[in-house]
Amino acid sequence: MKKNLLAILLFLVAFTSESQENKWYKGNLHTHSYWSDGDEFPEMIMKWYKNKGYDFVAVSDHNIIAEGEKWKKISKDSLYQQAFKNYVAEYGENWVNYKNDEEGLQVQLKTLEEFRPLFEEPEKFMILKAEEVTSYLDGKAVHMGAINVQELIEPREGNTIAELIQNNLDAIKEQSEATGEPMLQHLNHPNFTYAIKAEDIIQLDGERFFEVFNGHPYVNNYGDSIHDSTEIMWDQVNIAYHAEGKPLLLGIATDDSHHYHKFGAKWSNAGRGWVEVRATELTPSGIINAMEAGDFYATTGLELSELDFDGSKISLKIKAEENVNYEIQFIGVQKGSTKSEILKTLKGTEASYEIPENVLFARAKIISDKLKKNPYKEGDTEVAWTQPVSLQ
Ligand SMILES: [Zn+2]
Ligand SMILES: [Zn+2]
Repeated sequence: MKKNLLAILLFLVAFTSESQENKWYKGNLHTHSYWSDGDEFPEMIMKWYKNKGYDFVAVSDHNIIAEGEKWKKISKDSLYQQAFKNYVAEYGENWVNYKNDEEGLQVQLKTLEEFRPLFEEPEKFMILKAEEVTSYLDGKAVHMGAINVQELIEPREGNTIAELIQNNLDAIKEQSEATGEPMLQHLNHPNFTYAIKAEDIIQLDGERFFEVFNGHPYVNNYGDSIHDSTEIMWDQVNIAYHAEGKPLLLGIATDDSHHYHKFGAKWSNAGRGWVEVRATELTPSGIINAMEAGDFYATTGLELSELDFDGSKISLKIKAEENVNYEIQFIGVQKGSTKSEILKTLKGTEASYEIPENVLFARAKIISDKLKKNPYKEGDTEVAWTQPVSLQ
């Protein structure tokens, strides 16, 4: 009897302390479905992410939110006809509303409100209402994620790339203020069509997040001989933001998943990049507040068991896998310099870095020698990026 009481007490102590602690939540903030140019039903996509251990997913189709009546004509390709059969087999004839006439097979897509209850569970899985606000200027793509958006945002126009981004960023902010709902905007794949340069982002007011990694094969994450990589761009923007006293730009990794039936480097498949967010609860405000505080990292595979910044020192520990080697780089910008550099490199599974007085800001990049499965680019290994911090 005493033993049982002790066990209960210990359980209560453990439970209370855990419930007060922050937890890490894994999420993909950039996902397409049949609601725009993705090639799968949202239910099948949500099932995939939930089964793979994700805690949250933003359904972010181009200029549309999964609401109202929308019919999808299914391609005659046997791959998609079979995928439809799998969908019906999974959810049943009663769930799926479809017709097959002279125009072929058409299926009414389920709305977010309809499919949400099939997957959402408190503290286990959350679907974020989202939109990829999608616009173009002279053939250059300006796309941004509007996370926890409540009503459709019609893309606004602009005469320059910076103006176009700013106008749409403002539209999201205005909706957040009008509804009282927290919303997060992230600038997507700046190097897609090489549309967005560091100089454009530098001009913005209130830009907090961008995709340092996007899993779609067309997005040029690594730049080319005449274009900076997204990572170089990131530090360039932050040199300017730091000088102006703006909050530093934070980097996310996303799938930008479109293709759920064809796999390989030619396709944008799920599972290539995500964020790990340390939050008090799995709610839109829990995740968004933590991200705004910079309490997250971006990854294409490897995960951290510890990540801390005490105001002057960055410390981290990798969830190390057997027979995998890791290199930890601390990257930053020295006072007076116009570019970032690797300030310290270590081999191993944990590291800490005391930011010297002469360094404006620093961040860690962890590079594993484990090849990424079905990567963005052949030969990519798993990588993670922590957020830049400056001396406080
Ligand atoms: Zn896009
Ligand atoms: Zn996209």
